[in-house]
Amino acid sequence: MPTSFFTAPGKFHRGNLHTHSTRSDGVLEPKEVCRRYQAEGYDFISLTDHFIGMYDYPITDTTAYRSDDFTTILGAELHSGAMENGDLWHIVAAGLPVDFIPPNAPHFRPVEGQESAAKIAQRARDAGAFVAIAHPHWSGLTEADARTITAAHAVEIYNHGCAIENDRGDGLLSYEHMLNEGRRLNMIATDDAHFKTPDHFGGWVMVKAQENTPEALLTALKAGDFYSSTGPEIHDFRLNDDRTQAIIECSPATTITIQGPGVVTARIVGTNMTSATLSMERLTGRAWVKLAIIDANGKRAWSNPIWLDE
Ligand SMILES: [Zn+2]
Ligand SMILES: [Zn+2]
Repeated sequence: MPTSFFTAPGKFHRGNLHTHSTRSDGVLEPKEVCRRYQAEGYDFISLTDHFIGMYDYPITDTTAYRSDDFTTILGAELHSGAMENGDLWHIVAAGLPVDFIPPNAPHFRPVEGQESAAKIAQRARDAGAFVAIAHPHWSGLTEADARTITAAHAVEIYNHGCAIENDRGDGLLSYEHMLNEGRRLNMIATDDAHFKTPDHFGGWVMVKAQENTPEALLTALKAGDFYSSTGPEIHDFRLNDDRTQAIIECSPATTITIQGPGVVTARIVGTNMTSATLSMERLTGRAWVKLAIIDANGKRAWSNPIWLDE
């Protein structure tokens, strides 16, 4: 029986990859942001303050707030270049060096001649970061915009702050358009917490790693060994040997659905379902499949895709 990273050695670490502090436009000091996430049961965060000139291009140093059971990944939200709608790009990068060279991005408006989003994303990836296209719905991202960010590892498919404050938290449709163009991208759920509103503890990633260290977490993130959630847990998601069945183990769910390109899904709807074996009959020949879980409170969890053309 094939295995998956779900059942590989190690444990799942709960983390938030998108957060702000007083080093940019958040209202809590970096230390307090870390304290609150740790107190909430998180294993790690990446503090991703806005990397723009009005905040002196912060790569906020959170290393002092690491402990035996909590770690931090240095990062930032990068801004440079205009999207098709004329607004400034937002790209989340976890795993940046402290000396990452700033673009010419003095404020939240694009500036003539500044580095493109594609280039700063590539520089971040080359510097070791896990790079994600932030909040596609909130940004008004177009498919042409998305195509330019070839350095991205992932797309933010749930942003809790954008959901709470603007009802623009979802990025699933933009993400699936990218998958359908052949992009090998994973997806993340995040908070984008500023702590001005109830924008925290709403979306996270569960990263499977043997150690709770920035290095191990970044390696697992880049490998896609994680899933995203606003509540439910996914304990396993794999296909059997001849890929005729999908096997799912999860926390109690009301909907378990396997999605592929186009209109086809394989799903089961019920109450308190903690496992399912779904026929892949209608999904064979498709390029990818992924799992979504919904629980009785409407909270959701999402697997990264399994690519079937590999
Ligand atoms: Zn943003
Ligand atoms: Zn943000």
